[in-house]
Amino acid sequence: MPSDPLVARHVLEFPGGYTRTTGPVIGRFLTELRARRLVGVRTAEGRVLVPPLEYDPATGDPVTGEYVEVGPAGTVTASAWVREPRAAHPLDRPFAWALIRLDGADTALVHAVDAGDPRAVPPGTRVWPVWKDAPTGQITDIAYFAPEVTKIVSPVRAEYRLRAGGALRVFLEGVARGVFLGGRCPRCDQVYVPYRTSCPECGGRIGEPVELPGTGVITTFAINNLPDPRAPEVPFVSAYVLLDGADIPMIALIGDVPAHEVRQGMRVRAVWVPEEERTPSMANVRWFAPTGEPDMELS
Ligand SMILES: [Zn+2]
Repeated sequence: MPSDPLVARHVLEFPGGYTRTTGPVIGRFLTELRARRLVGVRTAEGRVLVPPLEYDPATGDPVTGEYVEVGPAGTVTASAWVREPRAAHPLDRPFAWALIRLDGADTALVHAVDAGDPRAVPPGTRVWPVWKDAPTGQITDIAYFAPEVTKIVSPVRAEYRLRAGGALRVFLEGVARGVFLGGRCPRCDQVYVPYRTSCPECGGRIGEPVELPGTGVITTFAINNLPDPRAPEVPFVSAYVLLDGADIPMIALIGDVPAHEVRQGMRVRAVWVPEEERTPSMANVRWFAPTGEPDMELS
């Protein structure tokens, strides 16, 4: 008659801790840890082992006894995500066990990375140690590693009033009256719009503004397919309009015409918002619309 196998449960535990000697090499590593320094040991072939070992695992030769400070930062070479940490784990929240190659080391050590999310610990992740308050000379003196801070979220709020400088104020006061004001350089005879007080070409001083008509010609344009609150519809056209009498164009919306009919050389006229809606701003110009005149030859 078969009998049940005899089973006994054994637990091997040293509740007070199991004391063992570290040997000089690991001992040095742990002693340095207590001082919050990370060291490796150099092998006869020149590689730096971290954590240090007494024998080079590659050759079996004793290491040199030359200690090299490494880290403190390092690079994750591989990781495994722990969804449900156990009591003995270094963190009580999900974390990654990672192989971390500290800067200056040729081998990787295993430690926990507190990253919040498994996707945050791909190979190549830069991590820094987070030290315990009172180091005692154990690997757990490093509470865990944390990913390098690569971005911060900071509240931003800027409130400002833009005060138009003298020349721009003159121009916008003109716009509020439904006229474009330009400035003529007495030396170059160039007319700039918006009005400005000095010539960008020669630095000459520009005097009183000159009134320009609200008509001009499209020198170049772009068809836009993304909505814009100022635009009449989508697609809409933005263009450089050279006002009659001006020597540099200004940028403007084109309206009252299908986008595909807009062309270079097309004559246009400013469409102003009703006088009672006007403010000293470019919002007074709704857009430029075709005048119906023959196209102009552009030089
Ligand atoms: Zn000039």
